Amino acid sequence: MNEEEKQVVVVTGGSSGIGRAVALHMAGPGTVICYNYHRSGDRRAKETAKLVEKAGSLAWCARVDVSSQADVKEFFGKIVKDYGRIDVLVNNAGIAIDGLIVRLKESDWDRVLSINLKGAFNCMQAVSKIMMKQRAGSIINMASVVGVMGNAGQASYSASKAGLIGLTKTVARELAARGITVNAVAPGFIDTAMTEGLPEKAREAMLAQIPLGRTGQPEEVAEAVAFLASRKAAYITGQVIHVNGGMYM
Ligand code: NAP
Repeated sequence: MNEEEKQVVVVTGGSSGIGRAVALHMAGPGTVICYNYHRSGDRRAKETAKLVEKAGSLAWCARVDVSSQADVKEFFGKIVKDYGRIDVLVNNAGIAIDGLIVRLKESDWDRVLSINLKGAFNCMQAVSKIMMKQRAGSIINMASVVGVMGNAGQASYSASKAGLIGLTKTVARELAARGITVNAVAPGFIDTAMTEGLPEKAREAMLAQIPLGRTGQPEEVAEAVAFLASRKAAYITGQVIHVNGGMYM
């Protein structure tokens, strides 16, 4: 198999948590897994690379801030230069800075929106041009249950995820004629670095809202992403798949 025949998958924030699980789930012979890290340094990113390569894929990684349009353009430019195409984009990179509306700092609001929402916009804009030329491709955006339910203390985060759902539906409509699907996955409460620092009381309150009575695993989110990226989901676009143990129905 030469470089042009490989399936090229890009996962933002593939260095840890859900992004790493997605990268591993989609890895296998014939697939190139490209991903980025940002603040964590390259140790965790190298761990992902080892696991991806063990699964039989080529791993390609760079330090990229998705909120920077210049960084993002360079990232996708390099991938296309090396592999000629992009088949799947998973916009997974994200942060949460929690705080009640009355105390939320403007700079924290801006930071969350610029990574979670503008970051996805930057990546989708860069990849759309490439996928339109291919007349094929699949984009999956990592939303959140709080983007549809809201959550006290998460104004910026829930707004960014609700915005991402609107953006998903709009881009799905814009790109459908070119054979490109655009969907979102909305996880509930998943065990990753993002949720591990949650105080015990908040954790218990969250668990009480989950009919299945447990937190989710990153691999359970990766299953939904892999499905949406596959041919099996070729007739699905503009949808939000909820992976939350029944927390939102
Ligand atoms: P995580 O382990 O903290 O992973 C976040 C990833 O995003 C890391 O790889 C991080 O890289 C990357 N990232 C952060 N800022 C970035 C930036 N400016 N540019 C590029 N990459 C950046 O958290 P996670 O739980 O796996 O979250 C992954 C996604 O799932 C997020 O979009 C999150 O909102 C969403 N989600 C999570 C849950 C949950 O319960 N965990 C629920 C719903 C939705 P560095 O560490 O190198 O900066």
